[in-house]
Amino acid sequence: MRRFRSISPHDNSILGQVEISTTDEVQAKVAAARAALPAWRARGVSGRVELIKRFVNIFEQRANEFAELASKEMGMPLEASKSDVADAMQFLSWYAHNAEKYLSPEVTFENEKEVHTVYREPYGVAAVIVPWNYPASNFVWGCGQNLLAGNTVVFKHSEEVPLCGKLIEEMMVAAGIPDDVFSEVYGRGPVGALLSRQDVDLICFTGSTDTGLSLYRTAAQSMKKICMELGGSAPGIVFEDADLNEATSAIYAARFSNAGQMCDALKRLLVHESVWDPMVEKLVAKLEHIQVGNPLSAQFQMGPLVAKRQVDLLERQVADAVAKGAIVIKGGKQPGIAGAYYEPTLLSNITRDMRVWQEEVFGPVFPIMRFSTEEDAVALANDTQFGLGGYIFTNDPKRAERVAPQLQTGMVSVNGVSYVKPMNPFGGYKVSGLGREHGHFGFEEVTQTKVIARKR
Ligand code: NAD
Repeated sequence: MRRFRSISPHDNSILGQVEISTTDEVQAKVAAARAALPAWRARGVSGRVELIKRFVNIFEQRANEFAELASKEMGMPLEASKSDVADAMQFLSWYAHNAEKYLSPEVTFENEKEVHTVYREPYGVAAVIVPWNYPASNFVWGCGQNLLAGNTVVFKHSEEVPLCGKLIEEMMVAAGIPDDVFSEVYGRGPVGALLSRQDVDLICFTGSTDTGLSLYRTAAQSMKKICMELGGSAPGIVFEDADLNEATSAIYAARFSNAGQMCDALKRLLVHESVWDPMVEKLVAKLEHIQVGNPLSAQFQMGPLVAKRQVDLLERQVADAVAKGAIVIKGGKQPGIAGAYYEPTLLSNITRDMRVWQEEVFGPVFPIMRFSTEEDAVALANDTQFGLGGYIFTNDPKRAERVAPQLQTGMVSVNGVSYVKPMNPFGGYKVSGLGREHGHFGFEEVTQTKVIARKR
């Protein structure tokens, strides 16, 4: 039996081992998920909602256990892991509460002779593949609306959090969700690739753009439906009229939460030249208070990155920037403790040929650049292949109204207001993805649309 290990990024200890799913197992789980479709569909929305609500109750009872496990496996500070679980349950509860409304038939045309009704029908078997950065939310965002819509799911959590995956599977069984309606496969990338090549009807993927592109090719071979939430390099623009204190807190949270490992994190900051000095000063002052260390200790605000290879990648991205003339204002190195740690880092003198500008930076490294006109700011913000989030800081509502539509991104936050809500669409423009999660948008994404036109 082939196994892989779950390793703590804090101290490299081995947390557990999980068997890698074999080809036969993956095939059998997909076949079982297909066989389970009629019964799952026959349960109706209300029957599925009941089971999902039972699952939410169980997850809430085991929230602390899950949060601690997540922090150990991927390094997020414990309080943040608890928020991940609470947020995930809030989203799942919202989906359950609104499923009936958004999945019910809708009469689109009627007169004295005819009635035309639109139905939302499940696709069938969904392969759902997710990363590790929010172990509870990644699972809920990928699977919740699928299951409520009547799809059965074969799920692969990330190889970085296999024990979280096991605990989710256990709680689904405890909630009475049949193990052919929801099952899991375990392993690294090749297991995900194997799952995507099976007889599934849709692929819902969250992860890097490179993996997304390869899954897009797989899906194209048999015209499979695909939904993709991919990487980002969100710009933030601080205009000269912004409230800099308010902006500093929002920018810190948007860049450095979860050690910078958020898909829609603010990854490139553009600051008007007239407020450059105070803005940099405030960011440096904020970072002075950030202590990096054990994610299970409340003493530290930032944990390790998910794995040493991420630290190595950050080092290469920072070295490239420095070689091309970037100035390290703060951080720029490992803090000298064991584990996958990296100091919160501010880089200035950024040029567009640097990797930190062109690539996604998935860690606590923050390139900042000056601009002089609104036009320049928008051009620099859009100077990327990505298009997930965007952030604007200004006290002029007219400016916000003018600039937000010009950003080539699926989501825009003005003055730190979070767009992440269960009723809002989450997703990207350009190479940041295809389709949207949450709200009625998410239900539409995981269902097929059928119109039936009949006589009265
Ligand atoms: P990744 O693409 O390496 O892995 C994600 C998942 O895909 C894992 O379960 C992995 O095992 C699996 N996988 C890897 N190669 C595969 C293949 N060839 N075929 C099928 N499955 C495969 O991503 P990661 O490094 O684990 O996660 C970080 C990335 O995820 C970042 O780019 C981040 O921006 C992105 N992300 C996006 C969102 C979003 O909603 N847009 C949310 C979270 C993370």
